[in-house]
Amino acid sequence: MRTVLAGDLGGTKCRYALVGEDFSVHRVQHVATVRDRDEFLRGLDRAITAVLAELPPGLEPPRAAGFGTAGVVPADGASILQAPNLPLDGYPLAGHVAQRFGLPTTLLNDGRASAWGEFLRGNAAGRDPLLCLFFGTGVGIGLIVHGRPYGGGANAAGEIGHTTFAPGGRACPCGGRGHFEAYCGGRAITERAAAELGRPDGPVWTVGGVVAAADRTDPVGAAARTILHDAATAACTLVENACTLLNPAAVVLGGGVCAGWPALPTRIEAHVRQHCSEPIRRDLAFVPSLGGSDAILWGAAAATGALWPARG
Ligand SMILES: [Zn+2]
Repeated sequence: MRTVLAGDLGGTKCRYALVGEDFSVHRVQHVATVRDRDEFLRGLDRAITAVLAELPPGLEPPRAAGFGTAGVVPADGASILQAPNLPLDGYPLAGHVAQRFGLPTTLLNDGRASAWGEFLRGNAAGRDPLLCLFFGTGVGIGLIVHGRPYGGGANAAGEIGHTTFAPGGRACPCGGRGHFEAYCGGRAITERAAAELGRPDGPVWTVGGVVAAADRTDPVGAAARTILHDAATAACTLVENACTLLNPAAVVLGGGVCAGWPALPTRIEAHVRQHCSEPIRRDLAFVPSLGGSDAILWGAAAATGALWPARG
């Protein structure tokens, strides 16, 4: 079976694996994301070497490499222009991997990779246009139009997490203020919890920890409820705006914030059904992400063009 090497470069962790043409994922390696570029690249090299060290029976060696990554990736797929949560701004990462491992390498934005994976294999497969929103460390988005991720004029479309929710509001990891991600991104939620709720029950605040704290009857519970209220308001407004702007056939919701806060997707869907116009909501399907991180790997594999012919 043909394979490609695929990666998911996230703000918290990175994942590397072989993806087969039947969408199977093999020899997965995880590496925590670090802020130092040299250390990041050493971790990447070690993980890819480990993935390639032994080929499972029946799999051919990879023909290419594809990486879904946070941040803005130019249309040539060679580097990351700007990624607030990765130490790779401007670095020619595709050339780095091609040189070290002898594989033609493509990068694409992780929201776009996720959407492509969900479109090929997920719960809303084939629904076009397909809008995917991932509430993870940051807010990822991907829009599939005519079977392909929509990129915009300079391949920079879709950074809806960095549009403005509250002018002049909370500081965003991108350096701006009042952006949606500063309220409903996972990093923003947990950093705010660390600043406002005191010590966590576990080693660090997680979204699930904030949700659990919101059940408390003391001042910490009240402060946790305020954080979640702000996050839910931002997430619901973001999806409402996106649906009104784009009129998708289906919306896929996923990411670590939804995983740690299972009530959030339900609230988002109810909000959209109440606030969007009838033509927008009439045939609109909401589905959970099937692939999670695997969807990014599938989309990154699709971007190489080495496994599956483009649809649409
Ligand atoms: Zn921002």
